[in-house]
Amino acid sequence: MAENHIVQATIDDQAIVALVTGMRGACFTPSDAGYDDARMVWNGSIDKHPAIIARCGGVADVIDAVNFARANGVLVAVRGGGHNVAGNAVCDGGIVIDLGAMNAVRVDVAARRVRAGGGATIGDVDRETQAFGLAVPLGIVSQTGIAGLTLCGGHSWLTRKHGFACDNLVSVDLVTADGRYLTADETENADLFWAVRGGGGNFGIVTSFEFEAHPIGPEVTFCAPFYPMEDAARIFRHWRDFVADAPDEYTASFVFWSVPPHEMFPAELHGRAIVIPSGVHCGPVAEGAKFVQPLREIGEPLLDLSGPIPYLGVQQAFDPFFNTKCERHNYWKSLYLDALDDDAIDRIVARGLDRPNPWTLMPIRHMGGAAARVPAGAMALGGRDASFMLSIDTSWTSPDDSDRAISWTREFWDEMRQGTRGGVYLNFVGDGEDNEAMLRASYGDANYERLVDVKTEYDPENFFRLNQNVQPRTT
Ligand SMILES: Cc1cc2nc3c(=O)[nH]c(=O)nc-3n(C[C@H](O)[C@H](O)[C@H](O)COP(=O)(O)OP(=O)(O)OC[C@H]3O[C@@H](n4cnc5c(N)ncnc54)[C@H](O)[C@@H]3O)c2cc1C
Repeated sequence: MAENHIVQATIDDQAIVALVTGMRGACFTPSDAGYDDARMVWNGSIDKHPAIIARCGGVADVIDAVNFARANGVLVAVRGGGHNVAGNAVCDGGIVIDLGAMNAVRVDVAARRVRAGGGATIGDVDRETQAFGLAVPLGIVSQTGIAGLTLCGGHSWLTRKHGFACDNLVSVDLVTADGRYLTADETENADLFWAVRGGGGNFGIVTSFEFEAHPIGPEVTFCAPFYPMEDAARIFRHWRDFVADAPDEYTASFVFWSVPPHEMFPAELHGRAIVIPSGVHCGPVAEGAKFVQPLREIGEPLLDLSGPIPYLGVQQAFDPFFNTKCERHNYWKSLYLDALDDDAIDRIVARGLDRPNPWTLMPIRHMGGAAARVPAGAMALGGRDASFMLSIDTSWTSPDDSDRAISWTREFWDEMRQGTRGGVYLNFVGDGEDNEAMLRASYGDANYERLVDVKTEYDPENFFRLNQNVQPRTT
């Protein structure tokens, strides 16, 4: 059954035929070969059946798909890379407007500007930019779509040096709910540009992103000593104190995990519960190596993958554990922390020891640096002044474990929320529960009210609703 009253049977067949025949890209309906593959998203928990999937070949297809959905009252899901863990890129009974084929990337080397299509992945952008020694700060798994990621922030190994992905946006081209094609930047449709930098997919379908790029690599320094989980409380405290004085070049993440059963790790370590005081230093490698050395000597590592590594290599280092079509089930939540005192550390460690499945990953990201220097009202994105971001990436293999895994995550999140402002990083929102309260806490009242104003102006009917939904005032 669909999320609202709209179901496949209500869509006029002739309208579908008109859309399909006009499109430059491919369309999939349930009877088409390829439909099941096209409706799959990254999270194995999501199993939805849209009436039609419009894999757009260009802007004209996007405009037609939007006009088709509006004219026929069809629920719309927008898909970039399909990595949204809540599964918002697909719906039951409606249309998926899929940008996946619009993944071209063009680098203007002299101007250090990058144009990327609304369906490009991080890997697409990294590949083209690194050919010229440049990088755009996006995220850390190369198959992730840049669209969903950037529109809600975009945290990467370069965040402390160059900010969130959205801080590096120069302009976007987008199709609004009424089918208009607009460019938004600091001077043209500036309210829209303010809103899309953190406000998610609420305002239109971005067909093209323009980013500022930065000289990075070709090598950076990776820090990844694996310590036994039993020593987590001590290692975690040491890491917290160490990163307090880190330069902007160093973006760090303290990770609770278990060694995956993968050939890249020694067989005797497979399944071993570990903590990793991980990070990337994006400055000169000699400087990076010297900086991370103390983190490699907090104890006796079980394994140490630290050292110089091509930037492209570190960007793909986690890919094997997060396949494009993930067969695992996932429920991910996050929380901004203003501080990480000993009590908070002890509570996180207790949960680290009690994870519902070895695949469950808990990164605590160190914030600050360039991302924190952008004024709170400069764009929609909130949470910049937090000291850390706790991410609870709960992942499990059997659907029978779903209730237990989700309850565990919510209990942990509720416990940690006490004494915080309750703001979350909007790329990790569980399944979007407590939507309005969560959005207010995450954006702050002023930014949230401004987002509602922009939503009301550009999408008064809440046409784009499958997202971290900002409701217009009129509905
Ligand atoms: C394995 C994995 C690793 C991740 N790593 C990181 C990370 O390092 N840093 C980080 O910040 N986040 C990370 N994320 C979270 C990621 O940013 C979000 O899941 C994000 O939604 C992915 O974007 P997407 O385009 O792939 O999503 P999709 O599922 O395709 O889309 C998600 C939503 O974004 C909107 N949207 C998508 N495309 C468009 C478009 N062209 N125009 C307008 N709206 C659009 C829609 O509202 C849609 O519902 C990771 C997620 C996964 C699963």
